[in-house]
Amino acid sequence: MAIFPKQPTIEVDLERILLTNEQIQTRLKELGATITAYYRQRDVNTITLVCITNGSIVFVADLMRYFDMHVRLDSMRISSYLEGTSASRKPQLAADISLDIRNEHVLVLDDILDTGHTLTKVLDVLGGKAPASVEVCVLLDKKERREVPIQANFVGFEIPNAFVVGYGLDFDQKYRNLACIGVLKH
Ligand code: 5GP
Ligand code: MG
Repeated sequence: MAIFPKQPTIEVDLERILLTNEQIQTRLKELGATITAYYRQRDVNTITLVCITNGSIVFVADLMRYFDMHVRLDSMRISSYLEGTSASRKPQLAADISLDIRNEHVLVLDDILDTGHTLTKVLDVLGGKAPASVEVCVLLDKKERREVPIQANFVGFEIPNAFVVGYGLDFDQKYRNLACIGVLKH
């Protein structure tokens, strides 16, 4: 397990660390074993990972190395914007996957499940491509924030309602390279 060193120059901006890199890696090792066993029970020996970029790049890079099975890797980009004067966010497909997933077993990997709008859009797009199965794995789940009924099949950590950065998650495009996950100072 590669545990990354502290990053004092960046961590100084944090009010608190929610998850250390060591806690994340320990959990990913468990998740990797759980997911490998899940597919093995179903006699599936190759899955297609759909990484929702950019936020889940770090998560996917680490998690996939805990899978003892073959994977194909693709990515999808979803952009969200505020529509008109309403507070509702409307996710748009900004870049689709390029692999053919017809009759393939797909595992969607995202950094965080918040209101649920983003993953609902992802599942809608993938569902139209006739895959054999689609499962969802998220590193973080803010259950109390859900606006649409969607849940992940595999969850790394349930976290309270706070805006978090690090381990792929950004604020204004920064902090993605932070090895831990934390809450910014105001
Ligand atoms: P949802 O559509 O479920 O509300 O939002 C999911 C997306 O919103 C995530 O993929 C992520 O890009 C962003 N997001 C939600 N909560 C947070 C957070 O606490 N921190 C960061 N950096 N992004 C978040
Ligand atoms: Mg995202």
